[in-house]
Amino acid sequence: MSADHVIAIDGPAASGKSSVARALAKRLGFCYVNSGAMYRAVTWRALQRGIAVQDPDAVTALAEEARLACALINDESRISIDNFDPSPHLHSDEVNRAVSLVSRVPRVREIINLQMRRCVAGRDVVVEGRDIGSVVFPETPFKFFLDASPEVRARRRNAQGQRDEIAMRDQADSSRQTAPLVIAPAAERIDTSALTIPEVVEEILKRLRAKGLSRATVNSRR
Ligand code: C5P
Repeated sequence: MSADHVIAIDGPAASGKSSVARALAKRLGFCYVNSGAMYRAVTWRALQRGIAVQDPDAVTALAEEARLACALINDESRISIDNFDPSPHLHSDEVNRAVSLVSRVPRVREIINLQMRRCVAGRDVVVEGRDIGSVVFPETPFKFFLDASPEVRARRRNAQGQRDEIAMRDQADSSRQTAPLVIAPAAERIDTSALTIPEVVEEILKRLRAKGLSRATVNSRR
């Protein structure tokens, strides 16, 4: 079974995806799914086990062996890996530095996409990531690409108190061979540089209504 309605929110690091996707899901009564957390979870487990993250074969072996699971709890995706809850570790400096090395490995992407599709089967979801509209749910008519100037994005990360070389991560994510960060065909690009989170959410809701999707239309089908 595939998901019911999928709203894909892609974009580079610190473009506002997570805050917008979570708030949008709440407004629509949809579940919020954070695909980046799955890549971060695999990365955390690889680092914890001392795997050489720059070695694609070693990362592939780790991903095939690890028991990765995604569940929707309280309308949000929660990840477990080898029965650990990795959430306290997902935004550490080490994971920020290594995650693009892990996410470029094709087998890692296959495993995560399979888990993600299983997790959202039959549900209405807002999914954020890099390749949601282009690769994971290409058939959805609801695709958005959030962007912001490099200066604004760097400022947002600093304000969150995180050390995150977002320019390096974006460069790696955009130039990898498998499922690079791209604006999916038919995705609507929104520049969030000068907008607040509620303003971006309103803009997306307006565009969704124009495509015939609103909380009322979803509920009336039930
Ligand atoms: O969204 P977030 O910044 O937490 O994602 C962390 C990393 O996970 C990205 O820099 C990228 O390497 C990878 N990622 C991906 N595809 C996705 C989501 C995240 O490659 N759909």
